[in-house]
Amino acid sequence: MLVVMGRPATPEQIQHVIDEIRRRGAQAHSIPGDSRVAIGVTHHDGRIAKEQLQALPGVSTVVPITRPFKLASREARQGRTVIQIDQVTIGGEEVVVMAGPCAIESPEQAMTIARAVRQAGAKIYRGGAYKPRTSPYSFQGLGEPGLKILADVKRETGLVTISEAVDERSCDLVARYCDIIQIGARNMQNFALLTHAGRVKRPVMLKRGLAATIEEWLLAAEYILMEGNHQVILCERGVRTFAQHTRNTLDLSVVPTVRWISHLPLVVDPSHGTGRREKVTPLARAGVAVGADGIMVEVHHRPEEALSDGEQALTPEMFDQLMWELGIIVQAVGRKIEGPVPGYRLRRGLGVSGLAA
Ligand code: PEP
Ligand code: MN
Repeated sequence: MLVVMGRPATPEQIQHVIDEIRRRGAQAHSIPGDSRVAIGVTHHDGRIAKEQLQALPGVSTVVPITRPFKLASREARQGRTVIQIDQVTIGGEEVVVMAGPCAIESPEQAMTIARAVRQAGAKIYRGGAYKPRTSPYSFQGLGEPGLKILADVKRETGLVTISEAVDERSCDLVARYCDIIQIGARNMQNFALLTHAGRVKRPVMLKRGLAATIEEWLLAAEYILMEGNHQVILCERGVRTFAQHTRNTLDLSVVPTVRWISHLPLVVDPSHGTGRREKVTPLARAGVAVGADGIMVEVHHRPEEALSDGEQALTPEMFDQLMWELGIIVQAVGRKIEGPVPGYRLRRGLGVSGLAA
């Protein structure tokens, strides 16, 4: 259920409603809204009648939330969740581009790629310091030294940073050095990690699991929201199917579906979604066209030497071209995108992609 407080409701009235919900053995969650205060009621097992809450002073209305994911549902919140980090807004009018290598490999590698993507208009720099790899013999990431490199990148370039946490310890470290905590596809249902991330005061980007339904994905987000962390971003990165022409099947129909049922911002990752660099640009374009709030792509200045996911990394030239193309597409879908830094001319027309490709 959702208790919508009247305008204006006093802080005492709001607290009284919360106390009454808890006194009856249920949980109360304040939900930020644009113009009103709402309190989500969970774990009530039918013990609280709508009328009991409706009668409390200051309450405007009590509405049932029919979806299994309560706090992530559109029913719980008026308007969309908009997340502000430094000068970057996620979930607003602007399409945000997150770019960078799969893994942080060295200070030089990280800084070279960061400068390139920043010039082209990326606002958020990605790079894993903890890599969940299929094989224990593959590069596992630099760990904390990698996060320190990300902190240096932010200091030098001003880019907002995102990096993956694989357990509770790395979650605390990512929160210390970076702006956004990424929870990867393989950890989408690591409930201890989700709860922990919910208690950390940093935005969290939750990737869709390899075989997760939308309901499972949004219920995973619910674990984070339930702890009082409302800064959750969803990321579609492809699911397992019988397709052999791509690493995963990027499920772009999820974008309008999730936007319809949830208020959370949604990013599309065509790098992991396709696994092949020549397919990344066309699907990044499609992600923006279908309504994503952002795109996450892997970029490497020497993809053939990358320690992970080199086959799906765009070169800086390809990334320039992509930014130029996205600049055209946003106009058609009523969004905006940050252009290149003043004075920088995007390299384009190199034959690496092109709107017709
Ligand atoms: C990544 O972003 O580098 C990553 C490992 O992603 P995913 O969890 O989607 O595989
Ligand atoms: Mn990767």
